[in-house]
Amino acid sequence: MTPFLPPMDPPLPFGSLLVEPEEARSILRPQKDERYGFGFALSPYRGCSHGCRYCYVREYPNALHAPGDWGGWVAPKLNAPELLWSQRHKLHNARVFMASATDPYQPLERQYRLSRRCLEVLLLCPTTDVIVHTRSPLVLQDLDLLRAFGSRLSLGLSIPTDDDTVRQVVEPHAPAIPSRWAAVERLAAAGIQVTVGVAPLLAVHDAQAFARRTRASGATNAWVGGLRLLKQDPFYKVLADHGWLKVLDPDYKDSIRQAFAEAFPTRKAPKPPKAKAMPAVAIMPEPRQPGLFDRVG
Ligand code: SF4
Repeated sequence: MTPFLPPMDPPLPFGSLLVEPEEARSILRPQKDERYGFGFALSPYRGCSHGCRYCYVREYPNALHAPGDWGGWVAPKLNAPELLWSQRHKLHNARVFMASATDPYQPLERQYRLSRRCLEVLLLCPTTDVIVHTRSPLVLQDLDLLRAFGSRLSLGLSIPTDDDTVRQVVEPHAPAIPSRWAAVERLAAAGIQVTVGVAPLLAVHDAQAFARRTRASGATNAWVGGLRLLKQDPFYKVLADHGWLKVLDPDYKDSIRQAFAEAFPTRKAPKPPKAKAMPAVAIMPEPRQPGLFDRVG
């Protein structure tokens, strides 16, 4: 099958990105906190060229790079698929989250295909469920593989704002918002259930229209996750300079959630009696989709 290759934003030229291929010593990071909903985090890359300005991963201890270099370097873990294969015995009845500290479909994945090859290993682990979370329509290049997982796969796509001018400031090297909508639509049309993560919630232009757009895209689910800043996080100044401090206000988050609750109205259980209404989206407990927005462990 020829994979569908979507029109892409121009990737960050590799020429300006420091690419540091490495041999990883481990690939599965256990997550003992059950609230996160998965047993292992899997990151085929260290670093992330999307370089989101709020990304706390930049603060992870790193001998070679200062937090200010975040987005300018990526270390592909060349042996990630082989390492994963050698540790597959750990994955019986487990759920794996890809990826907790990087985007598995950042532009380098076009070249290295490490996320794809890890997925190919996971596909051979029949009792293992997989959560893939990305900001990039590059995920469509693995559409065939993703479909092969069937109900074992949960796919999330982050769309934290409806306003691409906000995205340009905050996620300067991540794909444009319209291209993410196109990806959701394409995935949904291919029969893949997609959850839109409005997370971390950024400044929104029109909450109701945003929520309706999400519904119309074919997403089966959505959730709204708040922004969490580190102590003395420089991103606070970005918010202040642009007049976006409201994103830290719990009432703001509640208002966005309400808009999504209206766009995805509560489904009734199909049969009486006395079945409780099934929550649809946005009002469901916020999934602990980790790593990208919350400090894990
Ligand atoms: S938030 Fe995700 S996509 Fe953005 S820089 Fe961090 S790891 Fe990459």
